[in-house]
Amino acid sequence: MKRFDGKAVLLTGARGGIGATLLKAFRDEGARIAAADRDLDGVEADLCLPGDLLDPEYADTLPSTVRDALGGLDIVVNNAGVITRGTVTETSDDDWSLSLGVNVEAPFRICRAAIPLMAETGGGAIVNIASCWGLRPGPKHAVYCMTKAALASLTQCMGMDHAGQGIRVNAVCPNEVNTPMLRSGFARRGFDPDSAVAELGKTVPIGRIAEPEDIVQVVLFLASDAASYMCGSLVEVNGGKAVG
Ligand code: NAD
Repeated sequence: MKRFDGKAVLLTGARGGIGATLLKAFRDEGARIAAADRDLDGVEADLCLPGDLLDPEYADTLPSTVRDALGGLDIVVNNAGVITRGTVTETSDDDWSLSLGVNVEAPFRICRAAIPLMAETGGGAIVNIASCWGLRPGPKHAVYCMTKAALASLTQCMGMDHAGQGIRVNAVCPNEVNTPMLRSGFARRGFDPDSAVAELGKTVPIGRIAEPEDIVQVVLFLASDAASYMCGSLVEVNGGKAVG
């Protein structure tokens, strides 16, 4: 018997660094996965639902589409995210709309649609991927930090409001993770991603930045029955960096 045998999971950002690792880990543990991302070329899942989370209709209907196709919806992982750099005065209208749309509005729409479906069948688990920067902001990423703080707050509110329906809503808050999101940011600024990741690792007490697997194991725990009393928790996964 595997930990997620027969469970139906909706996973956004399924093709990304953390998402691809999550997809494999859930499947290895028996789950059936509905993968959502803009582009799902090469992604192996039980159901592939390509689309743009900025499209309200797509986000609103993802949970019912999964329920209809997989015969249930037990777990939702709101993992998709975008990072925009800059202070407030450097933030364009486009950056604002993109960050709010993907990092806050889409998880809001997905949770709003998923919660009643999960409640009908006795409950479920939602795990949102927020960020350490949603708990304590970092420099020159004002809107990104704000969106992750919003997602953290929404997680706490939903964790409280829907616990009585058997729905546990929690968030994982990573610090730096070695994924395309982080590496492409280094590349855009003219740094070699491998050396930049190694340098950054020296700033973390544990001696390295996180690999996706370090984050994924915590997501799986929160999605599992082992976390049966956790509702509205913000779990920081940071290798000892910026503990506060
Ligand atoms: P990633 O860029 O590798 O993956 C993000 C995925 O989200 C991509 O596959 C992308 O296509 C998808 N996505 C983005 N916009 C979308 C849209 N409009 N519609 C549909 N899909 C869309 O990034 P990652 O590092 O794997 O990040 C996963 C989550 O972890 C994000 O929420 C991110 O904010 C969070 N996080 C990452 C780090 C880090 O250092 N990498 C740190 C803290 C939190």
